[in-house]
Amino acid sequence: MVQEELIYEGKAKKLFKTSKDKELRVEYLDQATALNGLKKDAVSGKGALNNQITSLIFQELEKQGIPSHFIKILSKHEQLVCEVEMIPLEIVVRNTAAGSFSKRLGIAEGEQLPFPIIEFYYKEDRLDDPFINEDHIRYLGIATPEEVAQIKMLARQINTALCQLFEKIKIHLVDFKIEVGKSDGKILLADEISPDTCRLWDLTTKEHLDKDVYRREIGDLIPVYQEVLNRLEKEYSSCI
Ligand code: ADP
Ligand code: UDP
Repeated sequence: MVQEELIYEGKAKKLFKTSKDKELRVEYLDQATALNGLKKDAVSGKGALNNQITSLIFQELEKQGIPSHFIKILSKHEQLVCEVEMIPLEIVVRNTAAGSFSKRLGIAEGEQLPFPIIEFYYKEDRLDDPFINEDHIRYLGIATPEEVAQIKMLARQINTALCQLFEKIKIHLVDFKIEVGKSDGKILLADEISPDTCRLWDLTTKEHLDKDVYRREIGDLIPVYQEVLNRLEKEYSSCI
């Protein structure tokens, strides 16, 4: 078998070249991290859960007209994606106060926000992914003001679609992070959308169904991620 070239190994995924130009194989790892990698543990089964959850969500978003890098799922822990030129931003959309927003602004966790709030973080491990604004993005040459406007519109569309998607399975979407990239000048949703990158609260019990169970050491990650996948698969067609 021809060994595919590993082009990137991150905290949660490995990216490999494929025989086709512009297509990458993404392998989701059985690893959980928090605090920019300072907290790290092997978690058997996590890669397969996140790959299946992300694949299902990206497929549902595609049906809503949201363009992404996703091509197809290859196995429980692998997917095929279109290679994009990543824009080094973490784009966070918030519907309810939580996490760093609550800490920074002194707003109680759980306070419903009157409108979705978009934040930008510069994806740069060396600097600990600092919070930045649109002028910083322009100054650093990360994206043009026109691209930032497109990214914000895409983020809002994704938020609307995701809120509906999760509400159907009795989950409240508190906040989430996305990453985007460029392909042939077009901005595409890339990376992943999973309980690693979203805050998901059970609509009735407010139980955390996301990485906060690991970050805050309040429960086991696998049963919680499995619950999210089970609910998604029950409502939407399974992709594997
Ligand atoms: P991190 O880099 O934060 O440790 P991961 O382990 O999730 O995160 O690594 C996946 C990397 O792949 C991320 O840096 C992400 O920006 C990048 N990436 C995601 N989708 C694509 C894509 N379609 N093309 C190229 N790079 C991508
Ligand atoms: N998030 C993420 N990756 C990061 C930082 C945040 O996916 O490197 C997600 C996180 O899961 C949450 C949202 O972005 O859904 C907002 O996170 P926040 O800024 O509140 O940071 P935290 O409290 O997790 O440090």
